[in-house]
Amino acid sequence: HFDEEIHLRGFSEIRLISDSFNTMLGKMQKVENSRQEFVSNVSHELKTPITSIKVLADSLNMQENVPNEVYKEFMQDIVVEIDRENQIINDLLALVKMDKSVAELNISAVNVNDMLEMILKRLRPIAAKRNIELVFESFRQVTAECDEVKLNLAFTNLVENGIKYNVAGGWVKVSLDADHKYFYVKVTDSGIGIPKEYQDQIFERFYRVDKARSRETGGTGLGLAITKNIILMHNGAIKVLSKEDEGSTFVVRIPLRHIQEGLNGGVKNEK
Ligand code: ADP
Repeated sequence: HFDEEIHLRGFSEIRLISDSFNTMLGKMQKVENSRQEFVSNVSHELKTPITSIKVLADSLNMQENVPNEVYKEFMQDIVVEIDRENQIINDLLALVKMDKSVAELNISAVNVNDMLEMILKRLRPIAAKRNIELVFESFRQVTAECDEVKLNLAFTNLVENGIKYNVAGGWVKVSLDADHKYFYVKVTDSGIGIPKEYQDQIFERFYRVDKARSRETGGTGLGLAITKNIILMHNGAIKVLSKEDEGSTFVVRIPLRHIQEGLNGGVKNEK
């Protein structure tokens, strides 16, 4: 009996090991799949403007005696595509930088009220073009330990999206609050909203609900991925609440005091 028991136990242990091995393989496969998908997305996104530039340049080359206005028009289109290519490359570089460790953060005491007000001031002329009002509402004076340059980029992306995916004459409201542990920023807009089924996916790289609209407004589909990375680097969290045709609210929560990962047994990112 004893021998049999050892034998059975051995089997169940082997099964346990093999199960966890399979789980690990499954996880590795998932990482590999998402890496492959990313590389194929990057190639596709980078190729699109180049293809347009090639078509535009070829058709100019094929015509004899191109009238000056036509020539200029084609050249302007080529410049738009070059700008777009540049934007994608810049966003990709930003994303690659964010993928590195938390040690990359340049932490200082940041006046969050001033930072948010500056962002709105900078974006007001752009919003005014579509008659969109930018409002700031602050419930507290907040100073937090964070990376000002990165957080500035994260919140700029959210406000820019509030403007881009809005309706003419709409508004974007940024509100700031805090408790003893965290500060909270809400970016609410009166825009087109995001259907429920896409709300998780918008944080993925290159994901866009409406490709044509995103492209029209100069979007690369990387803004929210960058924003989320920056917030996670600060051990913060981001979520979206939205209703189609009514608008969206992005809620961000960030600790007031930065705790370096690895100290105190390590602090895990919250999602
Ligand atoms: P993009 O460069 O396309 O704006 P983002 O990563 O910033 O890329 O956003 C991904 C997608 O999420 C957008 O293409 C858009 O479909 C959707 N989205 C983001 N913010 C908003 C918003 N405030 N209102 C409606 N849709 C939004």
